[in-house]
Amino acid sequence: MQIPVRIVLVETTHPGNIGAAARAMKTMGLYDLALVRPRCAFPSDEATARATGATDILENARVYDSLPEAIADCGFVVGTSARERAVEWPTLPPRDCAAQVLDALDAGNRAAIVFGPEKYGLTNEALARCAVHVRIPTNPEFSSLNLAMAVQLLCYELRLAALDRARADERGETSGTEPQPSRVRPRLATVAELDHFYDHLDRVLVESGFLRADHQRQLRLKLRRIFQRAALDKNEVDILRGVLTSLEPSRYRVERSES
Ligand code: SAH
Repeated sequence: MQIPVRIVLVETTHPGNIGAAARAMKTMGLYDLALVRPRCAFPSDEATARATGATDILENARVYDSLPEAIADCGFVVGTSARERAVEWPTLPPRDCAAQVLDALDAGNRAAIVFGPEKYGLTNEALARCAVHVRIPTNPEFSSLNLAMAVQLLCYELRLAALDRARADERGETSGTEPQPSRVRPRLATVAELDHFYDHLDRVLVESGFLRADHQRQLRLKLRRIFQRAALDKNEVDILRGVLTSLEPSRYRVERSES
């Protein structure tokens, strides 16, 4: 059983963790590894040694300059964090997260799970690009897992959920005349489509004076959170972009002078 979920490692500092993550993925049937600005040599002998037999995953891994590029084509992105953040986000336990990822795949979306650097984890900006966050329940006084172990646990949950669904399908439990709600939902907007929308929103809100060009990081994150929660599809993003275009001052002026 292959599970087409991309595992994205952001600014990993230890090559051994990249190798161990590849091994963790392969044992669970995942194969799509993306690295964002690794802070260590890659490819490296240490990564290869720690991957043991999973060298094919390392050889096929793609390296990106930024997180948005690594997940541009994804409609459902999960961010991982060991701790609570300043701007709270919908946060799921691993089992619910796995179910939502599989629902997203069933609805025709590409999906990714994003992991942060060993020392600090993901930035709030990186986490704001994710629809939901997942936290592996750990000892609150010692909450941070080794990166590759976090990859292992979340890949394991995906495999358990996928095996459950395969068994249910075999028993015919999901093949009634009623389609599952998740299977009739249109495809979600991709990260690239949402990013164009956020840029557009930012431009219009700076022009209107609601947002200042710099600062106001938290306000921007909260605006994103509203739209992330809405799980917009492509058509809804097009409608919102049309709304923004209609509010752009330059266009407003043209229409006023025409009337
Ligand atoms: N101090 C960082 C921990 C970094 S550990 C923090 O608080 O986020 C490196 C990465 O492993 C994290 O970015 C995350 O991707 C993953 N990770 C570690 N512990 C985790 C946990 N309890 N739940 C979810 N992901 C975890």
